[in-house]
Amino acid sequence: MTDSIHAAERIAKLRQEIERHNHLYYIEAKPELSDYEFDKLLEQLIALERQFPDLVTPDSPSQRVGGAITKEFVSVTHREPMLSLSNTYSPGDVEEFYNRVKKLLALEGVDEHEMVAELKFDGVAISLLYRDGLLVRGATRGDGVQGDDITVNIRTIPTVPLKIEDVGEIEVRGEVFMRKEDFEQLNESRPEEERFANPRNATAGTLKLQDSAEVACRRMSFVAYYLKGIRDESTAHFSRLKLLEELGFSTGNHYQLCRELHDINEFIAEWSEKRWKLPYETDGVVLKLNAVTLWDKLGATAKSPRWAIAWKYPAQQARTVLNAVVFQVGRLGTITPVAELEPVLLAGSTVSRSTLHNFDEIGRLGVMIHDRVIIEKSGEVIPKVISVVLEERPSDTQPIVIPSNCPECGTPLARTEGEVSYYCANEEECPAQIRGRLLHFASRNAMDIKSLGKALVDQLVAIRLVKDVGDLYFLQEPQLEKLERMGRKSAQNLVRALDESRAKSYERLLYALGIRHVGRATARELSQAYPSLEALMQASEEQLATVPDIGPVVAHSICDYFAKPSVPHFLEKLNAAGLPLSASESTEQINRNFEGLTVLFTGGLDRYDRLTASELVMERGGRVVNSVSKKTGLVVAGHDPGSKLDKALKLGVRVVSEDEFEAML
Ligand SMILES: [Zn+2]
Repeated sequence: MTDSIHAAERIAKLRQEIERHNHLYYIEAKPELSDYEFDKLLEQLIALERQFPDLVTPDSPSQRVGGAITKEFVSVTHREPMLSLSNTYSPGDVEEFYNRVKKLLALEGVDEHEMVAELKFDGVAISLLYRDGLLVRGATRGDGVQGDDITVNIRTIPTVPLKIEDVGEIEVRGEVFMRKEDFEQLNESRPEEERFANPRNATAGTLKLQDSAEVACRRMSFVAYYLKGIRDESTAHFSRLKLLEELGFSTGNHYQLCRELHDINEFIAEWSEKRWKLPYETDGVVLKLNAVTLWDKLGATAKSPRWAIAWKYPAQQARTVLNAVVFQVGRLGTITPVAELEPVLLAGSTVSRSTLHNFDEIGRLGVMIHDRVIIEKSGEVIPKVISVVLEERPSDTQPIVIPSNCPECGTPLARTEGEVSYYCANEEECPAQIRGRLLHFASRNAMDIKSLGKALVDQLVAIRLVKDVGDLYFLQEPQLEKLERMGRKSAQNLVRALDESRAKSYERLLYALGIRHVGRATARELSQAYPSLEALMQASEEQLATVPDIGPVVAHSICDYFAKPSVPHFLEKLNAAGLPLSASESTEQINRNFEGLTVLFTGGLDRYDRLTASELVMERGGRVVNSVSKKTGLVVAGHDPGSKLDKALKLGVRVVSEDEFEAML
């Protein structure tokens, strides 16, 4: 009994501590702990909760890692319909909205028409219910009246508070979205044909997943923009946003009180360019009447409230000339036509290339070489050609011809019936496919070999030093030194990076092999069902198809892969290279060389960007700070160090060069 009381106290303390750090990290962006330290706290909590399962509560941060599987989401009715805002692209509509609200209120004898302008996040709207300070329900918008109860998935989003100050029963609405960086990482870890078109699609797809552990891995974010039902109701929307922040929600911070139409137009103009620099996608500005008490007075039409409107930025388009089309060969042999464009400024960056996806798309557009084309960037990360300016077609246009042979190796191209893409079947020898496999193997979610970049891979393949990923592990420093732009130091770095990659997990290796249709999530399932490559190779298609999330297509593709005649020899090579061919061989662990050490970087580093260097320190138990004090344990001085170096020397703090820092790693 005393044991359990004692545990309850520790659990409560740990939870409080973890939520505090969670808030510092995700909402205030001022982390005090390294990721490693944070994970340690969470592990402690999970271990304790496992020991005392009666003490597990839904508001525990342990619930953020997910784990629950939902077969079917229960439908729930919103307490008040979730109306969608009316959208407009026309500045005239904004003015009309403003004047209409002003007039309607004047009829009521009210002369209060301040508006709050907020950025519109391009995500998925949800509703959160809190009772006694606890998150009790998270639901999708659905049709506005009824949505799905997706609480288990919502709990995994770090910026959704699980517990807040008890302010009675409240409803918070907001947007779930994915940051550009998290979106790109997610897509990178998925097979090409399963990639999401944009962060919004990825978010919508993720919220509906049945496996909450997978939801947790995808790192979604949440911003709150609506608060309802609080006792002592605040009457201004602007103060409600502030209140949401006090309660621990993120509001995105970019909102403003606008007194006049002029202020609104200024806010819209200001963000039309600035928004491209944000780490997430925004597609407009939402205007809401600040006086909440007047919302009911204005009411709503059948679909949208009359007290708010969403201004949407027009999709960014530019006109340019299509100079040529080149054909890229992917790591799985797929041929992708890529348009080479006359460089043009679009959405804050210069665009000179754009994908044409496949030959059906070229046919649909009717595009020819030298045509004037319109390119567009909306929710997508990569711009695309959307139309041809036919009335200005020059006389020297040339048709885009589907190549009959692979542009890399000359093999005649093939097309699988029912598929839109052509491919090069020369898997073994096609240099483009070899390069693609090597780069995939080295990518961040695979074996994470940073020093193996594109330029180096190009060289290694061109001079036939490497034919498959196994060869990498038998490269000798003297061979590498002779390569262009390599030198002794880089050769050593690569050999060491390869050496370190041997300690990565079997699950990563499975993903890194680049088997068609096997993304990161599938690799995880496979590694659990078949903890060694040997076992996996012996599995039949029928057996594979019984693994969760693996359908007949994926099962077929895996069997296909292992049936290739070159595979036994290849796997022997991987085995000789010392790679983890089974789960028990995985020894993924990082040294703790920086345990307890406070590190400061000053000046530029040659081999690491600042973020990577900081991550390396934190992974190894250290802390990274931005100002020197007596407590600073180590200063890493790159080239052109600033005044921080002088200060460090004065304080007698240990100073090391980039080389010494690398050695410490
Ligand atoms: Zn080829």
